[in-house]
Amino acid sequence: MKLWMKIMIGLGLGVVAGIVLGEKASYVKPIGTLFINAIKMLIIPLIFSSIIVGMTSLKDGKQLGRIGLKTLAIYMLTTAFAVCIGLLVSAILTPGEGMVIDMGTATAAKKAPPFIDTIINIVPKNPLGALSSGKVLQVICFAIFLGIAINLTGEKADPFKRVCEAVAEIMYTLTAIVMEFAPYGVFALMAWVVGHYGASTLLPLLKIILAMYIAAVLHAVVVYGSGVALIAKLNPIKFFKGIMDAQAVAFTTTSSSGSLPVTIRCAQENLGVSKSVSSFVLPLGATVNMDGTAIYQGVVALFVAQAAGIELTTTHYMILILSSTLASIGTAGVPGAGLIMLSVTLSSIGLPMEGIALVAGIDRVLDMARTCVNVTGDGMTALLVAKSEGEFDKEIYEATEAV
Ligand code: ASP
Repeated sequence: MKLWMKIMIGLGLGVVAGIVLGEKASYVKPIGTLFINAIKMLIIPLIFSSIIVGMTSLKDGKQLGRIGLKTLAIYMLTTAFAVCIGLLVSAILTPGEGMVIDMGTATAAKKAPPFIDTIINIVPKNPLGALSSGKVLQVICFAIFLGIAINLTGEKADPFKRVCEAVAEIMYTLTAIVMEFAPYGVFALMAWVVGHYGASTLLPLLKIILAMYIAAVLHAVVVYGSGVALIAKLNPIKFFKGIMDAQAVAFTTTSSSGSLPVTIRCAQENLGVSKSVSSFVLPLGATVNMDGTAIYQGVVALFVAQAAGIELTTTHYMILILSSTLASIGTAGVPGAGLIMLSVTLSSIGLPMEGIALVAGIDRVLDMARTCVNVTGDGMTALLVAKSEGEFDKEIYEATEAV
């Protein structure tokens, strides 16, 4: 049986187990945590080695520059689209109607760090410290600098380049081994989520959950579906099939960084994206490209405005699109990061921070949808960039059988 089928069965059985066992399902959570840990174990060596491989295996510096620009352009554009879709669906479903934000009892919201600090801290003072403490953005920055320096050094840097290639290959193999365990991990995580967030937690906020999931599906079908069909001129169903393993892992672990090893594997083995493009585009995407998080910012901002009875003007909407896009870029690819970044979006147009407390209780369920969209967007970007750069293997893509 194919791995994605086993994962889907794990997911389905997890839901059933969660419903039947209720809060008791948390007994199986350690199995899920074990799976998340095993994936996390791969992240830092994989990001470090694969970015260097990506940057040093391209034909020339020009191609690297072109790929970088294309990647960032697609990331920004799809993210801005995502905020708009989130706002639109939230405007139609009006999840905030009938809710009242109680300024008195709401707990103080967590503040996101100032934007400028995030930028300054991207350059690691101590690269080995960044590697050992798992600071993803700093590791990416260091790897990009190293990649440039290796290219400039030329032949003398070859031994190090080969070591990085070997590390990346070994990490891909290790990913395949860890993924064998995925169906069980996914089962345990789903059982826990469903058991823990029973109907009583979810029902009062059902409309906002609905808005998030509808917007997520809409974004995937409209933006990714047409991106693959119209720009890459490929069958979109094969794309969604090919990226499914990564989606399932993202949905259950709620971490783009955590799903990265699987996303890279899907891109190379199912979507036919070359190693050099996938190893550069995907680690970057897992940290900066968050369409799902952008959708969520849009949905929640409007929800809070509705609940607080605040009318938004066109200027408000423009600021929201900009701040949500930036906030999503600054969001780390880890569980719950988007919730913290809400403070950026809400404060940009003076919406009450108390709104964060309202959605905090159901954040996990919203995070599942947004992380799933986040990795799908990374996959689509890798595919579009690879296709346009002649770094795409049609045979591999076509071999992914459509459902
Ligand atoms: N959990 C999301 C991710 O890893 C980020 C977020 O919280 O929005 O992609």
